[in-house]
Amino acid sequence: MPKSKLFKIIIIGDVAVGKSCLLLQFLEQVFVQDHDVTLGVEFGTKQLKLDGQQIKLHVWDTAGLETFRSITRSYYRGALGALLVYDISRRSTFTSLHEWVKDLERYGSQDMIIAIVGNKSDLPDREVETEEGERFARDNGFLFLECSAKTGENVDDAFITLSKAILERS
Ligand code: GDP
Repeated sequence: MPKSKLFKIIIIGDVAVGKSCLLLQFLEQVFVQDHDVTLGVEFGTKQLKLDGQQIKLHVWDTAGLETFRSITRSYYRGALGALLVYDISRRSTFTSLHEWVKDLERYGSQDMIIAIVGNKSDLPDREVETEEGERFARDNGFLFLECSAKTGENVDDAFITLSKAILERS
């Protein structure tokens, strides 16, 4: 049997953009509206089959460390991909993407694949248009999509699109 490949993926972005909810939705297909500060899903694994290739994903969530901007080199080490998440209903989380990109450049590996993820697409009151997200991603050479950790829409896509891009590069 062919050996499965191991991909480390990290989820970053401002506090409360929905990083933990995205991971939980991806791993267990559930959404918890009101949860404690951390859902306790700091880490999860999932097996995928892409283009006939077995992939084992190791996905890391920041576990609240972003609150103090104390995410450090060890978190980024070995990551082949990152989901950089903002909340489409809060512009400040989109503006912050620049800072997160700086962190990625500082701590991440050069060839890391980055997907910009506009979360909470279920909310009616958006402050960031889809085109703005697309433009930011395009200008930086990143992937882009919008999703909802609440309804589950496009959540699998976010992880799968990123994984496929990693696989193509590997
Ligand atoms: P984190 O700090 O980035 O890990 O964010 P959380 O996953 O803890 O989510 C922050 C808040 O946003 C919680 O109250 C969630 O219920 C809510 N939330 C997360 N994802 C969504 C979503 O897709 N839609 C909506 N409407 N709320 C969401």
